[in-house]
Amino acid sequence: MPNLNFHPAGRHFLQIPGPSPVPDRILRAISYPTIDHRGPEFGALGRQVLAGIKKIFKTEHPVVIYPASGTGAWEAALANTMSPGDAVLMYETGHFASLWKKMAERLGLEPEFIGLPGIEGWRRGVQADLIEQRLKADSAHRIKAVCVVHNETSTGVTTDIAVVRRAIDRVGHPALLMVDTISGLASADYRHDEWGVDVTISGSQKGLMLPPGISFNALSPKALAVSRAAKLPKAFWAWDEIVEMNATGYWPYTPNTNLLYGLAEAMDMLLEEGMDHVFARHQRLAAACREGVRAWGLEIQCVEEACHSPVLTGVMMPTGVDADQVRKLVYENFNMSLGAGLGKLKSRMFRIGHLGECNDLTLMATLSGCEMGLGLAGVPLQGSGVVAAMSYLQATARPVARHPAK
Ligand SMILES: *Cc1c(COP(=O)(O)O)cnc(C)c1O
Repeated sequence: MPNLNFHPAGRHFLQIPGPSPVPDRILRAISYPTIDHRGPEFGALGRQVLAGIKKIFKTEHPVVIYPASGTGAWEAALANTMSPGDAVLMYETGHFASLWKKMAERLGLEPEFIGLPGIEGWRRGVQADLIEQRLKADSAHRIKAVCVVHNETSTGVTTDIAVVRRAIDRVGHPALLMVDTISGLASADYRHDEWGVDVTISGSQKGLMLPPGISFNALSPKALAVSRAAKLPKAFWAWDEIVEMNATGYWPYTPNTNLLYGLAEAMDMLLEEGMDHVFARHQRLAAACREGVRAWGLEIQCVEEACHSPVLTGVMMPTGVDADQVRKLVYENFNMSLGAGLGKLKSRMFRIGHLGECNDLTLMATLSGCEMGLGLAGVPLQGSGVVAAMSYLQATARPVARHPAK
């Protein structure tokens, strides 16, 4: 047996922006016995999760569920729709956008990376006019897809996807719109059909409150049609066989049965609370977190008011302060994990996750840990972020949503 007794007293505060803490209700559901994936009970479970997940993506079209991390679903989106050498327009919002672009290169595509220069693009949402101009210049329609990240987890910046859709439509360009909402789904409002997205990519371990291990492609009829003629090799990821077998609640291979139990439970929790309540809860917690960061006198990575992420907040360090040192002190002394700065932001910022099942007191404990860690690191603070966030939460207090036990 591996030694799993590495947790000191009390619960560990897993305040990275994914994986997010898994609620007990979901852990219990996942612990049910694994069943025959060709048996009748499994078919009922499959039909239940495949129908339910459409409500989470807000789509009437198929959602493919893979036993893979989010990266697998990125690959699936490209492998199903693209042909070797296809040009794809990818927008640089941060580290995750950069990783997706690297994957497109490895798959033999020709990604073109656009965005604002330097670190500027990592502080703002997608500038849809840049996409519009680029597509307008592509009169030969060489560009086959526009790829954007909805909630850039490396920075804490969210993009208005409907605005990107309108930019593509204004120039009448036929490229597919592909959106990564791996960290946004189920914490930030998301509407696959209404926003005209062709392929939405998501994963289990962020807003859905599940452990890592399943991921998703939500499809549009156009994406399905394009996939029939697309020439990149695809086997495990191929939508056609999966969608066909999903019609009866089964998969062409052994799916992640226990995580599907967890998914069914997570969807019950989200729908019982009500998706709009879930989104409002996250917006309010994120606003309280920003009140805290501003009271410390520290800079927030996102500089566009309309684009602040409800999922996480990126906290910039004053020059000369190593953010990873602050994170280390918080981890060692207060048993809390914070997100590191990634890529261009390595050691310059840390990220506070407030996604998934986060509530008022989770956030208050998190900010307390941050404030004490900043103090230990000798970071000069203007005031108490804890007091500021607490005042905000008190002023906006509301009765918590309670639902009857199942
Ligand atoms: C977490 C994340 C990924 C990567 O997902 P994995 O499950 O780690 O493979 C990709 N994009 C975004 C925006 C993410 O937050």
